[in-house]
Amino acid sequence: MSIIKSHERGSLVVISGPSGVGKDTIVNSYVSSHDNAWISVSTTSRQMRADDVEGQTYNFVSREQFEELIAEGYFLEYAKYVDNYYGTPKKFINEKLENGIDVFLVIEIQGAMKIKDLIPEAIFIFILPPNLTTLKKRLERRGTETKEKMIDRFKTAYHEINEVTKYNYVVINDELDDAVKKIEAILVSEKCRCDRIEEVSLNNEEEYMHMMLLEDKEMPNKVIEVEK
Ligand code: ADP
Ligand code: 5GP
Repeated sequence: MSIIKSHERGSLVVISGPSGVGKDTIVNSYVSSHDNAWISVSTTSRQMRADDVEGQTYNFVSREQFEELIAEGYFLEYAKYVDNYYGTPKKFINEKLENGIDVFLVIEIQGAMKIKDLIPEAIFIFILPPNLTTLKKRLERRGTETKEKMIDRFKTAYHEINEVTKYNYVVINDELDDAVKKIEAILVSEKCRCDRIEEVSLNNEEEYMHMMLLEDKEMPNKVIEVEK
């Protein structure tokens, strides 16, 4: 039996950062090498892009359908970003967390701040590019936006970068592998937090050992074996 009992609930991990910084690339890479992690699939009213897959990258709906879903209370949070709606469905999230699975929400800042109000114990990570020139090149190379939409996203990115201090952690996405390793390190550290402890338990033998140590007495072999 372990000396402490910590709760086994998964962590809710909120990832934000400017468009094109590499959020999806990092999170997909992390999830592909960790069994106990899941990415929430958002709903959006934006047009599908060439690299989108219905039901995988998003659930695509019309603006009217999105507004109906808002009225039904379907979303944990939602926001408008560069003229389109994006929202996180409530369903599945609690069930996954209860089953010890870490849930990733890759969402923009307004939505992330709503989650912070609702679930302050979630982990908030902001991804930054090494510099703005690299960010622009990544957006261009991804080639998913028209020139006009890219400029809108780039303008939004400039303001978003100032919001980094609202998050718990910042990860610079220069080399992809390093960024993924940092996400891994953050999650491992979070599992060691003392506020996850439910119970500290010393059994009778450990109480006895403690007493012997205090009295500076030799411990009987039996007890030493238990400690091994
Ligand atoms: P976001 O989800 O933040 O909008 P993406 O994950 O779609 O960004 O990444 C944008 C582009 O940048 C993609 O073409 C992706 O392959 C590329 N990319 C992501 N991370 C890196 C990196 N560390 N180095 C070079 N290119 C990267
Ligand atoms: P994109 O159009 O590039 O897929 O996404 C645009 C922005 O919307 C990104 O910052 C992305 O993280 C964010 N986003 C995606 N899904 C959601 C969501 O469910 N809620 C909120 N608030 N933002 C989201």
